[in-house]
Amino acid sequence: MVSVQEAFSILKNNVPALKVVEMSLTSARKHILAEDLYAPMSMPPFRQSAMDGFALGLHDSLEYEIIGEIKAGDVHQVNLLPGQAVKIFTGAPVPDSAQAVMQIEKVTQEGRVLKLVEAPKLNMNIRPIGEQNSKGDLALQKGTQLNAACIGFLAGLGFTRVNVYQKPTVGIIVTGNELVRPGLPLTYGKIYESNSIMLQTALQDDSYNIIKTYEVNDDFENTKMILEQALTENEVILVSGGISVGDYDFVAQALEYLGVETLFYKVKQKPGKPLFAGKLKDKRVFALPGNPAASLTCFYVYVLPTLQMMSGLARDYGQTETKKLAHDFSVSNARNQFLKAQIIGEEVTILTHQNSSMLNTFSVSNGLVYVEDGGYELSKGDSVAVYVVG
Ligand code: AMP
Ligand code: MG
Repeated sequence: MVSVQEAFSILKNNVPALKVVEMSLTSARKHILAEDLYAPMSMPPFRQSAMDGFALGLHDSLEYEIIGEIKAGDVHQVNLLPGQAVKIFTGAPVPDSAQAVMQIEKVTQEGRVLKLVEAPKLNMNIRPIGEQNSKGDLALQKGTQLNAACIGFLAGLGFTRVNVYQKPTVGIIVTGNELVRPGLPLTYGKIYESNSIMLQTALQDDSYNIIKTYEVNDDFENTKMILEQALTENEVILVSGGISVGDYDFVAQALEYLGVETLFYKVKQKPGKPLFAGKLKDKRVFALPGNPAASLTCFYVYVLPTLQMMSGLARDYGQTETKKLAHDFSVSNARNQFLKAQIIGEEVTILTHQNSSMLNTFSVSNGLVYVEDGGYELSKGDSVAVYVVG
């Protein structure tokens, strides 16, 4: 049995090497850039009108002669003499001969005669070339996690492919003879299998797309066979259940048989004491306790940071935020605890139904309050460490 801190440092010393992969922007969501990207072009690439209005060849009067129009996307050249104007639309190229764009709301028009309501200012409503960035500027830094804005920014600069760190493929193995797939009739002694969809959802939330699910019976041969298959097909394996000390828990035995090296087995924590972490070359195995709340807690505290580090994200284990307890709380436990909680602003409330089998309050929880072992009182307003989850 290791402490929570020992488990963290063991995992930290065993993060596999990062792999770089080139992929299309359309698949790159939430991936981490593996290179600095420099702008291959200035943006905007030409002088652009920022308004619907009139591009002006400036002169001393408020009256101009309209000589044509330029729509967004038009490519024809217009040569304005002083005192001439061309109708122009947002995004259209402003002719080199224009020195200002007056917005449509500030003009009157009679035939080809344009009258300005106010005097134009030099370069008004013209986006200069490179206003956002010049060709060759650093567009995005290595280590950036690609979100919607990043993807749009890069597409706007003409990128279609990027080098990112590969996200690991994940296999989920569900164990338990008592489990029935939701949708099928539930008979006496059985429960619905909920861990696989729960873990799958948590993985999808962070954009792990290639997720395989396997089911095994509480049987050594079957567990061994499916684990062996899953180890060839995935980089990270999450096993649900079967890792405790019951007569029908075969996961630890099967992992040992397959040569998976134990990084740690059992952590002094509640929930999630039976947690196992192991490795086989570059592959990583987490055997999570079957109790749903314990399983999800271990996922957020140990598995997700591992997957994120394997994906190139600069993060660490044990990253918590400090919040103020909204109420008094008595701690009485020989193990460190992760308590389902609700963060509102700077305050956190520890919820009821802390049992590791229960997900009802986890469903309205957005944090896990971490409290050290022992018997002591916490008071309203005390600072506590909280893992932000969900
Ligand atoms: P185990 O870790 O296999 O001893 O299981 C601990 C508890 O979690 C038992 O009450 C199981 O029935 C329950 N459990 C195990 N796996 C699942 C699952 N996939 N979905 C829901 N409950 C589960
Ligand atoms: Mg079981």
